Amino acid sequence: MIGLILTLDYEIYADGTGSIYDHMIKPTEDFLSICESCGAKATLFVDVAELVKMRQLSTFINEVKEVEYQLRGAHENGHDVQLHIHPWWFNAKFNKGKWNIDDTMSTLCHLHSATISKYIRSSKQYLLDVLEPCTRKYSCIAFRAGAWSMMPTRNIHNALVSEGIKIDSSVFKWGKAHTPYMTYDYSNAFSNMYPWFFSPHNVNYTEESSKEARSCIEIPIYAEYQRGIRFLTKKRIFLMSRIKSTIVDDKSPMYRSFLSPVYDKVGLLIKRRAKKLDFCKCTFREMKKMIENIVKHNPQDGYLPVVAIGHSKDFIYRDDFRRFLLFLRSNYADIIEIVPLTTAANKYLLSMK
Ligand SMILES: [Zn+2]
Repeated sequence: MIGLILTLDYEIYADGTGSIYDHMIKPTEDFLSICESCGAKATLFVDVAELVKMRQLSTFINEVKEVEYQLRGAHENGHDVQLHIHPWWFNAKFNKGKWNIDDTMSTLCHLHSATISKYIRSSKQYLLDVLEPCTRKYSCIAFRAGAWSMMPTRNIHNALVSEGIKIDSSVFKWGKAHTPYMTYDYSNAFSNMYPWFFSPHNVNYTEESSKEARSCIEIPIYAEYQRGIRFLTKKRIFLMSRIKSTIVDDKSPMYRSFLSPVYDKVGLLIKRRAKKLDFCKCTFREMKKMIENIVKHNPQDGYLPVVAIGHSKDFIYRDDFRRFLLFLRSNYADIIEIVPLTTAANKYLLSMK
């Protein structure tokens, strides 16, 4: 059986542009409603750092209350709500109607373990407080790093374990970033699909024999290694132009570093890179093909959790997403279930015993 996990990163744009209602609340309402109409349960990875910062300002207080209401509703309806942190929000300043984020804090990984722990603990506490009034019990045990940055691994592994995080879902095989803001290289990641207990020294590797390494499992974002030319779909080009029209300062070094593959015009078409199973960016045909590739690895008597990703700000193509879920229901209902991350992780761990 395959447990497909639909994760939605719940956030506005990296440089602080975008609107809480248009880029988080409304698209997430549509996303959850489509999931519910197709019998699917989703997982929201909530960027807590931005919500905590916004909640401190009267300008945003009402919208943040709406966000919190939406998170409670999602949890009550059986969806998963888990922790995502973009640390550049921790020291962000709001000035003349514009956010100035702290681009020296693009990753938690370079901080001391105790400092990372402090940030994870307070962010977890925010989710616990928001979901506390719910009738369903809530546990925050899964994490996705801001901008997928899990290297260097040592300090963040320590912090995740000490704060009770048991699952990470940040890695996508073949993913790479070499910018002044962060550096990671997942070329050698254990798998593009199978989970692994990750080494405290390097998230790419597994050290199943060490007790320390068995404390946190990586459930990677499913990816395939494809030539740049195969990224040139109308959908991706539209989404890219939409980002350019929303971002206030597209000359900022941080913004350009995120889009570095796009500015590398030669590499754009020829080089291979990771194509994630992204239900906002992939066409229906791309998603269908990836599912066919995943199904070939369906464990007959085991359980395979597979992570797909999307972002609330990119959730534009509602019809493609609905078509994808209906396709899964019509063709694969006997071997693919769409379940929350923590449910899939538990089933996977039980199947290994
Ligand atoms: Zn994010």
